[in-house]
Amino acid sequence: MPAAVAGDADGLPARRGRGSAEPAPQADPGTAQSWDGAFWLDPQPRFLHDLCPGRGRGRGGGGAGRSGGGAPRRAGRSGGAPRHIHPFAQRLHPPARGLTARANASQQPGERARERRTGMSINDVSPAKGQRGQARMQAICDSCMQEEVFPCARGDFAEARRKLGLRGWAEVGGTLRCPTCEARRRAHAVVPVTVATEAPPKPTREQKRQIMELLGESYDTTAGRYRKGDTDAVVAEVLGFPQRPGWVAQIREEFFGADGGNDEIASLSAQIAALQAAETKLEKALAELCQEREALHRDAATMAASLASIRAAVGPQALRRAQKGAA
Ligand SMILES: [Zn+2]
Repeated sequence: MPAAVAGDADGLPARRGRGSAEPAPQADPGTAQSWDGAFWLDPQPRFLHDLCPGRGRGRGGGGAGRSGGGAPRRAGRSGGAPRHIHPFAQRLHPPARGLTARANASQQPGERARERRTGMSINDVSPAKGQRGQARMQAICDSCMQEEVFPCARGDFAEARRKLGLRGWAEVGGTLRCPTCEARRRAHAVVPVTVATEAPPKPTREQKRQIMELLGESYDTTAGRYRKGDTDAVVAEVLGFPQRPGWVAQIREEFFGADGGNDEIASLSAQIAALQAAETKLEKALAELCQEREALHRDAATMAASLASIRAAVGPQALRRAQKGAA
């Protein structure tokens, strides 16, 4: 078969040339595969397999490899061909229902693990068709694997989600959680508020120099206080940062004096002290006068009593008694 060998060598399909020498593809025992007595035709044309570089190499040896083409080639079905499941395997692993079935339909390698993580945890566990019993759904918590089976229409996952919501379940970010785990998630979801504590502003070198200059004018270091009515706040206000009297106080305490008072404050304090002393003195005098008044009052009462007794002794009645006695 020189035509077939030449066709394989340059990687081009050589089927047509060989067709006359070999039986038709349908009759080839390699194309029709038997499994459990069932027959089907390989859905992929064989010349597409021959385009596969791996196959081309395997058969490049010569005409002897050609005869191997007649053997069954199951690997040929791994391309885009539909999967055929052995009935026995189907009994062992029944096809999943509902979301799992949908997920399996477009499953890529490694997708199952992700699928499990993203919480497709609602399954239709209704009794099989023809069997008696209520249609039910099963929910599995993605956190603690707790299960809950509840009545729900067959295959209605929207309804199942609604019912789960009423039961306290929640699906957040593709993760289904039972009421307990959802409560725990919410408790942990409270993000602690981080207060940005920025350092308090500090005076610039220029501002410090200005404070020093003004303090030199307004602070009396010998008296240890501001002259006249100046204060830290006044200095800060004059220098243009009225909200920062603390800057002035810091520099004043470091280089001038601890007392933030001034002459006016000292003068007023002295006046207040003098007035308080006078008040105390007057209060003392008042107390003495009160005592004196009470003593006078007592003396007056005593004198009034003795006057009454004298009058009784020298009054008109006593005179009359004396006149009677004389007569
Ligand atoms: Zn849970």
